[in-house]
Amino acid sequence: MTETINTDVVIVGAGPVGLFAVFELGLLDIRCHLVDILSKPGGQCSELYPEKPIYDIPGFPLVTGQGLVDNLMEQCKPFHPVFHHGEMVERLETIGTAEHPGFRVTTDGGQTIECKAVLIAAGGGSFQPKKPPIPGVDAYEGHSVFYAVRKMEAFAGTRVLIVGGGDSALDWTLNLQPIAERVTLLHRRDAFRAAPHSVNSMRELVASGSMDLLLGQVTALEGADGHLEAAVVKHDDGTSTRVVCNRMLPFFGLTMKLGPIAGWGLNLHENLVPVDTEKFETSTPGIFAIGDINTYPGKLKLILSGFHEGALAAQKIHRYVYPDKRLTFQYTTSSTNLQKKLGVA
Ligand code: FAD
Repeated sequence: MTETINTDVVIVGAGPVGLFAVFELGLLDIRCHLVDILSKPGGQCSELYPEKPIYDIPGFPLVTGQGLVDNLMEQCKPFHPVFHHGEMVERLETIGTAEHPGFRVTTDGGQTIECKAVLIAAGGGSFQPKKPPIPGVDAYEGHSVFYAVRKMEAFAGTRVLIVGGGDSALDWTLNLQPIAERVTLLHRRDAFRAAPHSVNSMRELVASGSMDLLLGQVTALEGADGHLEAAVVKHDDGTSTRVVCNRMLPFFGLTMKLGPIAGWGLNLHENLVPVDTEKFETSTPGIFAIGDINTYPGKLKLILSGFHEGALAAQKIHRYVYPDKRLTFQYTTSSTNLQKKLGVA
């Protein structure tokens, strides 16, 4: 049996919001352990769109999903967070009182961590891509059929069939078209739920003969040993087309599965965790929720909102971790004390 770890805060989820919370907590001398089901930090940014540019992170006119995560990892380094990757937080028990909260967190890997506060930064919970209803698709997954693009180079010189009509389908059509041998975009109908400029760029590429657009649905895959050779596409008029391809990228959206969080005794609203907007604390004192997982009037599911929420939650967490210490507001630009913690003074 693994020994119980003691720390100040357990952060459930190492997405961008959980990572920035490490920094905000660290400035207040609060130590953290982070647990994430994924094998690496970054949540949706590294898992779903590592190479896509983000344009609305304050101070970064353009940063890729992975670039942002790399910077957040660098920024929280001085505080030596401990990561438990590939583990899901399964149980959360209260072991303290409302005034002096204490919690025991247990992972599916058998690790137990006791702490003074819990910060849930679990995004959409254990998010999973929706699979297309194509017989036998499982046999091709991970070899020829992918639900996210981890490395664009893996698609260089390939014949790619992209299925879907949303932003992901359109963005990857435009990103992969210059490097793939041929890109075919397939959607059920000739109307897209994507940014108009992406749709226009795609239509220009189709008009110039640089890629193909098909309307219909994949009904069968052809190939062997996980290696895709073609997809059979059925059209509304009953006819079929055989699309020669060796990669398929279905973008049918994500299923948001809350997972074990539903059993932690918290108030929930439509699978989200309601919080106040002063401290981002849940219905249980000492348990906080920040980022995509929380809800409150006016909530925007943006990374920048999660950063703000983490900064405010840290202020209240300080009172649980150091009940007898007064907290003085300080700027990183002018406080030698904060700069020492960051290792720059
Ligand atoms: P997440 O990034 O979802 O991370 C949560 C982590 O928690 C995950 O790694 C998950 O594995 C883990 N987890 C969940 N439950 C458990 C558990 N029980 N135990 C252990 N681990 C658990 N936002 C913007 O601001 N600007 C954009 O331009 C933008 N573009 C986007 C483009 C796409 C294609 C997508 C999908 C999203 C985009 N977003 C954008 C949204 C942004 O990615 C999210 O708002 C952000 O990732 C939320 O961060 P988070 O840390 O709250 O959650």
